Amino acid sequence: MLGPPGAGKGTHGKFLSKLRGVPHISTGAMLRDNIKERTALGQEAQKFVEAGELVPDRVMVGMVRDRLAKEESFILDGFPRTVEQGEALQEILKEQNKPLTHVVFLDVRDDEIVKRLTGRGREDDKPEIIRQRLKVYAESTRPLIKFYSDQGLLVRVDGNGSIEVNQQKVRRAVEAPAHSGWFN
Ligand code: AMP
Repeated sequence: MLGPPGAGKGTHGKFLSKLRGVPHISTGAMLRDNIKERTALGQEAQKFVEAGELVPDRVMVGMVRDRLAKEESFILDGFPRTVEQGEALQEILKEQNKPLTHVVFLDVRDDEIVKRLTGRGREDDKPEIIRQRLKVYAESTRPLIKFYSDQGLLVRVDGNGSIEVNQQKVRRAVEAPAHSGWFN
């Protein structure tokens, strides 16, 4: 699941997880759990998450490699967030012999994103942190759209509008062959 903060990666990731009977793996949720449990990883990640910055790749890649090793297949949400992480994911999936089939890009307008995030009430959903997360998305994560589009793996879903309607678009997007274009 790829897209800006508030695009619905978590919501639709959980929906697909139920639909397909495979685990939903959210790196943001894993980090929040580690922070709550005060693990070594959580203590290292906390200041980045609270500031709306990316947790360093060195921490993320190890965490994801270990987690994916435990599952046959999965819906991955919130990783990769940089092209470097995208390259690391290719290596991990090759090692573990698990092909990537679809990259679902949830495309949502900026005004809609801000509206959704300000209504959510998560610790990192304060206005100045939201602004920072959107900036990080634009600079570091958005290049992954081209990265995956060039590989023929991207399916783009219009994520504006209601959850129910978007769920059906997401379902059709993963049923179609990758690179099938737009799901409006
Ligand atoms: P999310 O729940 O996906 O919105 O993630 C919440 C926060 O966790 C992000 O703002 C980052 O600080 C951190 N995070 C989640 N996934 C990653 C990742 N792949 N790389 C770096 N930081 C991440």
